[in-house]
Amino acid sequence: MLTDLSLAELKPLITESGQPLYRAGQLYKRLMAGDSADAMTELPKAFRARLFDRYDAAGTEILKTYRAKDGTYKYLFGLRDGQTVEGALMSQAYGATLCVSTQAGCRMGCRFCASGLNGLIRNLSPGEILGQVVAVNRAAGGTAERRAITNLVLMGSGEPLDNYDSVTAFLRLVTAEDGLRFSQRNISLSTSGLAPGIRRLADDGFSVTLSISLHATADEQRSAVMPINARYPIAEVLGAARYYFEKTGRRVHIEYAMIEGLNVNYFDAKRLATLLKGFPVHVNLLYLNSVPERQLKSTSKPAGERFLERLKALGVNATVRKSRGSDVGGACGQLRARHEAGRNEAPKA
Ligand code: SAH
Ligand code: SF4
Repeated sequence: MLTDLSLAELKPLITESGQPLYRAGQLYKRLMAGDSADAMTELPKAFRARLFDRYDAAGTEILKTYRAKDGTYKYLFGLRDGQTVEGALMSQAYGATLCVSTQAGCRMGCRFCASGLNGLIRNLSPGEILGQVVAVNRAAGGTAERRAITNLVLMGSGEPLDNYDSVTAFLRLVTAEDGLRFSQRNISLSTSGLAPGIRRLADDGFSVTLSISLHATADEQRSAVMPINARYPIAEVLGAARYYFEKTGRRVHIEYAMIEGLNVNYFDAKRLATLLKGFPVHVNLLYLNSVPERQLKSTSKPAGERFLERLKALGVNATVRKSRGSDVGGACGQLRARHEAGRNEAPKA
């Protein structure tokens, strides 16, 4: 599909068809705005007909839109082969953050997550990830020049570093000067901790904000909820995160879902403080979203607040993140899981 291509890669298609090169720029602008072939009236009709006969413009469309009580929009995206992935748009005082998916399903098997329930289905292509941004930007009234989205987070379904080539190609496309021009500092990549991928990202010159889904303070405890920990234990993940910080100068974020009876006692606070000593991170504590298919439960609010206070007293830079859109399946992978189960009871916008 055409959204897989950069402007430079689009150019040969234009010259092959005998069109002047400036048509590439015109076409690219339209593609980034998510315009339909019919709307591209500045391009000759016969050229458009031939081009869109051979290529799809985008491979991602919004199938359903849900609006949560807190104003968060959730989207179910359809891909060309009938697969679905999801995204969410959250408005804040400073702008709007879109959460996108990088894979259909996920093979990491974290025990609290709905995305991994059926394993990995397939990787998304760069254009399918970009297509989520283009489609939501358009739906939210934005254009290629005046975006309705200010920040991106790679926190939908999938493990971004398990689809390294597509994700980094997507990052290049979405930050391109002649495209949507996102700044890397406004993009967060969340990972369950594929240590070699984290190092590679830094070595390849990326400087997006890195979020580590830590969720535990000891290897045994982490392995019990995140099987990937057996391969890349905590010390290795945090070692790679430090390397990323040293190479990029970007403060790393630590995601920590508070799970009842698992990771919120006094010793966890002490161990977390020790693990993060001398490493200038920001810890995002969050209450686990309950997933019907999973047994784990969130900690209570008082216990969560107590954990936050303990961390602060130990000198850890932490805040509690509010869960957004949970009444319409805010948790990772829930919307898709519900769609697949054929019970789409969330309210329609
Ligand atoms: N695969 C990547 C990014 C997608 S998941 C990763 O794991 O980091 C995005 C975030 O949602 C991760 O921090 C993940 O741990 C978290 N998450 C998954 N299921 C959740 C749930 N039920 N409640 C709260 N957070 C959840
Ligand atoms: Fe995959 Fe992230 Fe879900 Fe774990 S939390 S199963 S890595 S999407």
